[in-house]
Amino acid sequence: MKVRIIRTAKELMDVFDGNYSKEERDTLDYILKISSVKLNERVIELSKKHESIAAQFLPSLQEASSMGLFHKIYKSRTHPVKGIDRGYLDRVTITPVMNCETFCRYCFLTQAGFGASMSDKEIEDAVDYIDSNPDIRYVLITGGDPLLNQAKLERIVSGLSTVNHIDSIRIGTRTLLFDPSKFNDRFFRMIKSAQNHGKRIEIGAHMNHPDEIDAETQEKLEEMHRHLVTVYTQTTLLRGINDDPETLLELYRKVYRAGGEVYLLFHCDPINGMDHLRTTVSKGLEIKSRLADMTSGRLVPKYKVAKCEIGVDSDVLEIGENHIWIETPYSIANLKKIIEGYSPLEPVEKVSKRGRLIIKYMGKW
Ligand code: SF4
Repeated sequence: MKVRIIRTAKELMDVFDGNYSKEERDTLDYILKISSVKLNERVIELSKKHESIAAQFLPSLQEASSMGLFHKIYKSRTHPVKGIDRGYLDRVTITPVMNCETFCRYCFLTQAGFGASMSDKEIEDAVDYIDSNPDIRYVLITGGDPLLNQAKLERIVSGLSTVNHIDSIRIGTRTLLFDPSKFNDRFFRMIKSAQNHGKRIEIGAHMNHPDEIDAETQEKLEEMHRHLVTVYTQTTLLRGINDDPETLLELYRKVYRAGGEVYLLFHCDPINGMDHLRTTVSKGLEIKSRLADMTSGRLVPKYKVAKCEIGVDSDVLEIGENHIWIETPYSIANLKKIIEGYSPLEPVEKVSKRGRLIIKYMGKW
């Protein structure tokens, strides 16, 4: 699909007929120099129709005044081979492409950097690594968006299909919004072949607002259900976009009705310039609790702050002005088993009395 990169206020106004003062145009030029906009045709059209979608992909003047709190907690130290991230004993992620057809403004890659794809040889090495580690049972193919390069995705899925100890292959993607037509016959042939090898296939669908589920996306969700592919939601909590239980419930009802499952609601990562899109951490807890009061447990997500479910598997130990200290469920003993030479990364990680990892999370309580 045709993609547009927007690097100046003028280009933005050409596409979206915006009306900005000279001062605002200067501010937008500054913002776009730091982080340009990439949109495909479909997201441009949807952004023109829905403010809820435009606000996720177009720059806001507030990005210039927001201090941001970017600090990559849990910076990965777990790459046994290129493209593989192993933070747990029984699961790994593999990232064939660190790029997307459209960029979400709040994505960590806008700061960590969108990057190159894995070569075919690197994919082969990654699959070999998984094959030679029988503790690994679940693989998440993520990125970026793995659907950006169907050939590489197929290479990984077909490689993993023949690895006996793999139970499920998950694909983390936002293509149900960006370009649902990519879930085509070719995609379902790939799925069928993996299923024929006894693999369970799941789609972790990044979706944030009910406006994202138009007729085309809904049809694909239903098709996935018919092909025994489990689609589960991965939603980022975004201030002014979906930070109320009614909006989330509408999204979850649409997904559930089409055969999908409600799974994760993430507190928005601390990304420089994105304070205006971040809620407090406690706001997410309040929304989750309101949802539990309003609907079935099947439609109530797990609310994750970094990788922690506060009050379920993790506890808040201390609250600062712009940060909180969280005791995670991860034991240092286990981390040492998985990560060679592991030790907590001072000053943002510590060890609790009961031997668990404590992290400093940058965000307001
Ligand atoms: S789809 Fe995911 S990886 Fe791609 S830009 Fe959005 S948040 Fe980042």
